[in-house]
Amino acid sequence: MAFLDGMLLLEERRAVVEYGQRLLTHGLTRGTGGNVSVLNRGRGLLAISPSGMDYFETSPEDVAVLDLEGRVVDGKRKPSSEADMHRMLYNGRPDVAAVVHTHSPFATALACTREAQANGLPPIHYLAALAGTAGKPLEGPYVRCIPYYPFGTELLAQAARDGMEGRFAVLLGNHGLLAAGPDIHYAFNVAEELEFVCELYCRARTMGTPELLSDEDMGVAMERFQGYGQGR
Ligand SMILES: [Zn+2]
Repeated sequence: MAFLDGMLLLEERRAVVEYGQRLLTHGLTRGTGGNVSVLNRGRGLLAISPSGMDYFETSPEDVAVLDLEGRVVDGKRKPSSEADMHRMLYNGRPDVAAVVHTHSPFATALACTREAQANGLPPIHYLAALAGTAGKPLEGPYVRCIPYYPFGTELLAQAARDGMEGRFAVLLGNHGLLAAGPDIHYAFNVAEELEFVCELYCRARTMGTPELLSDEDMGVAMERFQGYGQGR
């Protein structure tokens, strides 16, 4: 394993492999859809899923390493077609060090509706407050939804970055979900919990009129999340 030991951004590349597999095992994507990346801000480099590769056949050396201008620094594979979407977030957001992009079914279905593209994810469950960034009360929806832009384009990357302002997630119209966080565990958790909230919203609507939480309820939930868990 001498070769692996000297690999650039080995720890981050291993995380990209592990969390790429979790996208599938946790039902957050199908086939080779979606992608994950991890930033090493000290070195100004990010590790990102290779383009169109089976998550269970991807090893650390397949993971692409890019600089923050998008140049491939290491790795023999082509980086994910959404690399700009990850990179632009890292460039504008010092609070973000990992990004998870999914095509999870309920979040994507919601992002295909006019209602979501106009109003974002309704505050149906307190877990949606996970998308809020540290301690700041949010104006407008906790998770916005941007309109459709062609995949892999700079237009999509810019709109996603703007849609995520002050938040750790954004729905991508007619496409999927983008989640972020200070580390890969956090970003993945946001993606997974928001998929759950989107599923609840869908199911609740089939049963009746969803009762929405107030801004105050959501603000309290966000505050409580600041002190929740084992700390980092
Ligand atoms: Zn996608």
